[in-house]
Amino acid sequence: MTWRRRIGPRSTHATHDARDVDRNPAPPPGALPGVVVRAYGKFFTVALADGRELLSTIKGVLKRERRRTDLVAVGDRVFVTDVGEGEGRIESVEPRTSTLSRLARQTNDVEQIILADLDQALFVFAVRDPEPHLRLLDRFLVMAESRQLPSLIGVNKMDLEHTGAGSESSLARSMFGHYEKIYPVYYLSAKTSQGIDELRQALNGNITAVAGPSGVGKSSLLNVLDPTRARLVGDISAATGKGRHTTTATVLHRIPGETQTFVADTPGIRTLSLQGVGPDELDQFFPEMRPFLGECRFADCSHLSEPGCAVLAAVDAGEIGRERYESYASLRIGDLPDDS
Ligand code: GDP
Ligand code: ZN
Repeated sequence: MTWRRRIGPRSTHATHDARDVDRNPAPPPGALPGVVVRAYGKFFTVALADGRELLSTIKGVLKRERRRTDLVAVGDRVFVTDVGEGEGRIESVEPRTSTLSRLARQTNDVEQIILADLDQALFVFAVRDPEPHLRLLDRFLVMAESRQLPSLIGVNKMDLEHTGAGSESSLARSMFGHYEKIYPVYYLSAKTSQGIDELRQALNGNITAVAGPSGVGKSSLLNVLDPTRARLVGDISAATGKGRHTTTATVLHRIPGETQTFVADTPGIRTLSLQGVGPDELDQFFPEMRPFLGECRFADCSHLSEPGCAVLAAVDAGEIGRERYESYASLRIGDLPDDS
């Protein structure tokens, strides 16, 4: 099994400071590498390479100082000592390469990590039942772009398409086809397993955050990717009585295979706002607009109504999708819903 070691410069994440060094002392001999897959209060489930899971606490010396960020978060690579009876002690935390975080409520300087060390995001919608909400998809995509997170799009319930046999001009392609030029799009069915092999390949070796409206089939897809997965919905936090983030807790699911592949259920991703995105930088987060930026007559063009706007011209010429442009315009005037 290959373990992705993180050696070298620390992440450029703004909240890291010198005290972070404490998180990563040399682990004692015999400590095992693992990935934090669940967190509840002071307890963390650490998945080991051999498939075992240890319910772990953090070694005392690691938590000496008050932190401006979570000391250990779901997604972190850690070294853990097996102390027996299915329990472990986290000895060190590898430097994070990326984080999906938000500022904790009521404080404006403490970072709450939704998921550490993620590689990409998969946004799942259904071709129908429920109808896809493409403005919400665009909002997710902007959020991901603004965090330099690669995005994948999953269109589930393809078995519900009811098109003529072999029809390529399908309903799904009419709605999602224009995204194919910008992002990888996977046409899926948890029911017939359509597209699952391709999706599995895209997930392989990565930590992927999954988000999308409820009812689109996210957990059904997870069940297809890992038929052995135990169904658990917050019952462990109830058992330990430490259900700190019960409504927005992130859980990592291991996808069986040769590499360490995890898919994250990230309910919290839906609560991420676009607050950090200024109106004048929004255009950069629509990748298909980038070639036209700088071509407008006015340097500070908002691309809403100005004469000589290269973006509007590209929309008229069909080079930028009109629906996508409308999402841009709605976001620009502050009009997109925070949620579905
Ligand atoms: P989640 O809320 O996104 O996790 O969605 P679920 O996985 O709970 O699925 C919601 C409903 O859609 C359930 O009734 C599933 O059986 C159904 N469903 C999920 N995937 C598919 C699919 O590919 N095709 C069809 N026809 N139904 C699906
Ligand atoms: Zn313009």
